[in-house]
Amino acid sequence: MTTNDITLRDIYQARRRIVGTVTKTPLVESQALSELAGARVRIKLENLQVTGSFKLRGASNKIMSLTDKERERGVITVSSGNHGRAVAYISQKLGVRAVIVISEPVPENKRQSIRKLGAELIVGGKDYDQALIFADRLKEERGLTMVHAFDDPQVIAGQGTIGLELIEDFPEIDTAIVPLSGGGLISGIALCLKSIHPAIRVIGVSMERGPAMVESLKAGKIVEILEEPTLADALAGGLNLDNAYTFRMAGEYMDETVLVSEEEIAAGMAFALEEHHLVLEGGGAVGIAALLYEKVEKAGERIAIVASGGNVSTPVLLEVMARQQNRNG
Ligand SMILES: *Cc1c(COP(=O)(O)O)cnc(C)c1O
Repeated sequence: MTTNDITLRDIYQARRRIVGTVTKTPLVESQALSELAGARVRIKLENLQVTGSFKLRGASNKIMSLTDKERERGVITVSSGNHGRAVAYISQKLGVRAVIVISEPVPENKRQSIRKLGAELIVGGKDYDQALIFADRLKEERGLTMVHAFDDPQVIAGQGTIGLELIEDFPEIDTAIVPLSGGGLISGIALCLKSIHPAIRVIGVSMERGPAMVESLKAGKIVEILEEPTLADALAGGLNLDNAYTFRMAGEYMDETVLVSEEEIAAGMAFALEEHHLVLEGGGAVGIAALLYEKVEKAGERIAIVASGGNVSTPVLLEVMARQQNRNG
């Protein structure tokens, strides 16, 4: 491992900061997946995290690290939904003003939960990259601090606290399967796990429709991707053309990447509900989908899958379930 700007120490400090705010989520055995994979498979339930996704970890660590002056001025972020909700939640708790800039595809259920938390919600463009440009301008105008959804050391360290919990609950883990979009989640977890035991494999899973990190790593540079509608809306969006951390970290740490189709994501959601009575959003179910469809090349023997979020609207969940029932006859 080469030297990095972010270290295991930052992750422990993040935990000290956020321990009273975030939940230590359960890690549950999956008998069905264990049988299927011929391995011990456990699922990390970040769908049960406060605000319904892991994003509260990084957002809290970032906002709790700001100076008093920065807190007084307020924060701004660009989000595909879950990060915005996390920023709105912790900001309300700390009495910090928050502006959440979203793009047009962000689903209504996620917009509502952000508004309910008292944040200012602005639609800044038709896709993530446009919304980011809009937010950068507003940040300058109003003197706000940007709380980036993934490309920020404090955010990455916050997401890395999942790695600490995995090691504590499952010390013999040899593989982590992690949903991948901008790469903050996987960078934090991989930094943590590989600092403790370098042989642990870390596998990133994205959707076939617009996998920004996978395409960028293939090209050897950040590429702009076309945002397409996907069940895994939390994984949609670009990497940030001036990406400073996650492109390098994900490239260095990831041992394998896997892509899953819309049908596979739907099957992952249905499996989570039927087998485990877990409500997962599409982005939260890609790891299960990857294992279900045996898409992981070297899956190991002691596997943890991160189920990253559960913020799916009821109509979408019902539609997915109905489609799966029809398919299974
Ligand atoms: C944000 C998000 C991800 C991806 O995290 P990155 O740090 O952008 O890679 C995965 N799942 C859910 C539910 C998310 O909200």
